[in-house]
Amino acid sequence: MNIILLGPPGAGKGTQARHLVEARGMVQLSTGDMLREAKDSGTEMGNRVAEVMARGELVTDEIVIGLIREKLETSKGSGFIFDGFPRTLAQADALGTLLSETGQGLNAVIEMEVDDEALVARITARSTCGACGEVYNDITKPIPADGKCSHCGASDFRRRADDNEESLRTRLMEYYKKTSPLIGYYYAKDKLTKVNGLGEIAEVQTSIASVLDA
Ligand code: AMP
Repeated sequence: MNIILLGPPGAGKGTQARHLVEARGMVQLSTGDMLREAKDSGTEMGNRVAEVMARGELVTDEIVIGLIREKLETSKGSGFIFDGFPRTLAQADALGTLLSETGQGLNAVIEMEVDDEALVARITARSTCGACGEVYNDITKPIPADGKCSHCGASDFRRRADDNEESLRTRLMEYYKKTSPLIGYYYAKDKLTKVNGLGEIAEVQTSIASVLDA
């Protein structure tokens, strides 16, 4: 089963994708994570995209489609979760082609709805475990008192360079201008289901599970 988690930055796509990986053995394909890895490893492409990402703009379709193509060829599991991809109509078309070339399809697109106020609150309070990627929030899910990640025990917590109000404004504009047209695109293909992303993490998990098990 292949699915897309669609929604603005801070909607909880990464958190829900990580749960699906653990619960169902699916493979999370997050272009944001792939780009951050490229940035950290200092490759030429990583250096090129670092500034674009810090500003909150989208990197080129060519780069992210290339990353996804490579992962689709090399990853194995019980289905893919596309997290943060596609973000433009061109990327959505490319994904359709890549999947059909490998004899696969797309089962569902889950749109996670969250209002802008909640997004700002979530993102400016967000930190991530540098070792395993577990996501924390200063208010709703604080870093444990012993300073160790509850998932892997590491104590290397990071805030993303683009998790500040200025980049977030750009990221939201990019979402509304370039990514939100995908809602209509997948609705027309009869793939879209909306889920309320504002609830507790476990409630959102239940809503997503009921879409996948339907
Ligand atoms: P994310 O971790 O999904 O919030 O992505 C972080 C940043 O990486 C975005 O603000 C973009 O600069 C870049 N990025 C991630 N995925 C894509 C994509 N599919 N298309 C273009 N840029 C992307």
